[in-house]
Amino acid sequence: MNFDLTPEQDQLRAAVRALGRKYGHDYFVAKAKAGEHTTELWAEAGRLGYLGVNIPTEYGGGGGGITELAIVCEELAAAGCPLLLLVVSPAIAATVIVRHGTEEQRKRFLPGFADGSLKVVFAITEPEAGSNFHRLGTVARRDGDDWLLSGRKCYISGVDEAQYVLVVARTEDASTGKLKPVLFVVPTDAPGLTRSKLDMEIVSPENQFLLYLDDVRLPADALVGESLDAGLPALFAGLNPERITVAAMGAGTGRYAIERASEYTATRKVWGGRTIGSHQGVSHPLAHAAVQVELARLMILKAASLYDAGRDLEAGVSGNMAKYAAGEAAALAVDTAVQVLGGAGMTTEYGVATLLGAVRAGRIAPVSREMILNFVAQHVLNQDKSY
Ligand SMILES: Cc1cc2nc3c(=O)[nH]c(=O)nc-3n(C[C@H](O)[C@H](O)[C@H](O)COP(=O)(O)OP(=O)(O)OC[C@H]3O[C@@H](n4cnc5c(N)ncnc54)[C@H](O)[C@@H]3O)c2cc1C
Repeated sequence: MNFDLTPEQDQLRAAVRALGRKYGHDYFVAKAKAGEHTTELWAEAGRLGYLGVNIPTEYGGGGGGITELAIVCEELAAAGCPLLLLVVSPAIAATVIVRHGTEEQRKRFLPGFADGSLKVVFAITEPEAGSNFHRLGTVARRDGDDWLLSGRKCYISGVDEAQYVLVVARTEDASTGKLKPVLFVVPTDAPGLTRSKLDMEIVSPENQFLLYLDDVRLPADALVGESLDAGLPALFAGLNPERITVAAMGAGTGRYAIERASEYTATRKVWGGRTIGSHQGVSHPLAHAAVQVELARLMILKAASLYDAGRDLEAGVSGNMAKYAAGEAAALAVDTAVQVLGGAGMTTEYGVATLLGAVRAGRIAPVSREMILNFVAQHVLNQDKSY
């Protein structure tokens, strides 16, 4: 057993950390408050090859795996720049194309993922279906060689920044019973596709949208994969990378908050010459949060290494557990950081309360803590399904 990263992974971690610090949380918050995107950071990360670490080298990528992408997600978040689009574009959408796209789709999309010039967001959630994907109501109908796509999606991140959205639908004749999904790569400017921005209580330069698909006409090659049967494995291919990278983002955010708080409590003095961090009522909650974050990081590395070894089923269990652990740890770390900073914790300047909304959302999305507990109860503990 070996808990060390490879020298290349260590170098990647250090290099991404340096890039993240160059921009930092103040940049992230300023962009969010101005209603702008982190375009410069994304472009520089793309130029440096960090956005394409998991894309095969023959398409211009780094040839690494989800372990490398998780490192990128974690380190940018640890510098105060948690980028959700890393999860939807290179982790979910690119993996789906790598593993289940046609060769033509790989050639067309992967070089753009590799250098970060292409952003593809991911749309599965629907207002009526919610956590129950078996109820998806977005329907794909054949019209000659084309497809017509109709339905509604909600909370879809980054549509305003992306060239395409990977839409999960079902075919017309599969409208009842178990989900038989079909995935389409839909241009965000396709006629019939409209969006409206949701007002979210999250300080983030990345936005969520309602999407309306009204007979969006798509050519046959917009369907991901060689046939309709590619849909289910393609969807599942995206889920483990999603869980693992979103967990990495949470762990990075937790590290960031604990670091900001520890710096503060190690110097702030309000009782004579002693720092507030010398009081265990202050240091123990921080230490407890640090333990939780570190435990989550271990599970993330385990899940990523299982996934990269092709052990998808085991990675599914570990990835879900990592996502759960990191979601809880990040929320705990940010809340604790706010508390030990006192009034400063609620200011924009100290840059921790700005993360409260994001870490709270991390316990709901992309899969809620309850749905993970359901998964663990059923698949690890062999309990009956209640729903
Ligand atoms: C910031 C943010 C970004 C997002 N980005 C995207 C995106 O890019 N693409 C996308 O497709 N979606 C996205 N989502 C949607 C997200 O994946 C969903 O919000 C999430 O899956 C939960 O679905 P829901 O909101 O409909 O909740 P519901 O399904 O309505 O659930 C509500 C509550 O009930 C609980 N619950 C439901 N069923 C059960 C059950 N059987 N047992 C126990 N508890 C249950 C849930 O855990 C939850 O707490 C995003 C959401 C947020 C907040």
